[in-house]
Amino acid sequence: MKKITIAIDGHSSCGKSTMAKQLAADLGYIYVDTGAMYRAVTLYALRNGLMNAETKEIKADELQQQINDVKISFVLNENGQKQTVLNGEIVEQEIRQMLVSSCVSPIAALGFVRKHLVALQQQMGEEGGIVMDGRDIGTVVFPNAELKVFVTASAEVRAQRRLAELQGKGDTTTTFEEVLKNVEERDYLDTHRDVTPLRQADDAKLLDNSNMTIPEQNALLHQWAMEAIGNS
Ligand code: C5P
Repeated sequence: MKKITIAIDGHSSCGKSTMAKQLAADLGYIYVDTGAMYRAVTLYALRNGLMNAETKEIKADELQQQINDVKISFVLNENGQKQTVLNGEIVEQEIRQMLVSSCVSPIAALGFVRKHLVALQQQMGEEGGIVMDGRDIGTVVFPNAELKVFVTASAEVRAQRRLAELQGKGDTTTTFEEVLKNVEERDYLDTHRDVTPLRQADDAKLLDNSNMTIPEQNALLHQWAMEAIGNS
């Protein structure tokens, strides 16, 4: 059976990675979380004094000079889950924290950061047999993907899910209002940036999962994938 390319884009915290991961496992495809790559660059900038977390000011020239030194890869842990590696160090936990979430969109708006990561993502998907999730996969990274899905849900539903995830990881201080504000800010920045803003590709299927369970959305996605594989 032909191995196709599946692009899953959409808003923050709408469960894209959960469904993309499951689909990749079902099909025996590679899964790539491109948000993790933008988060890793953000962590690098914060750690190296190239971004001020308060003002969001970025030393863009210096970051650009160092961009080839930012090595990002993925490894599997003992449970078979992908862990993001930044310059040899597993940073999976750190890149999911609110500090990185609140700084990532300005970093992802930088043209040279996008160019660097898009090239890396295209390399990873050269052979097909890949499920990649992000914001510009169907529009920029793989415009010829055989299946494109655009996922969304209401901001409140997304904030509630992200809060539950943070609490599940032991975060007892972040409030619903803080998470909702972050979700709305990222939506705004992601859809209004000059460089390849988030938008639904013309040929993408829309999946609004506000009122869907995880098994329901997985089943729908699986059905679309089987149709796309059958048609290719
Ligand atoms: O998917 P996740 O929420 O982890 O992505 C973090 C941020 O990275 C997004 O809010 C967006 O600013 C940026 N991003 C992007 N393009 C992608 C993936 C993520 O701009 N392909």
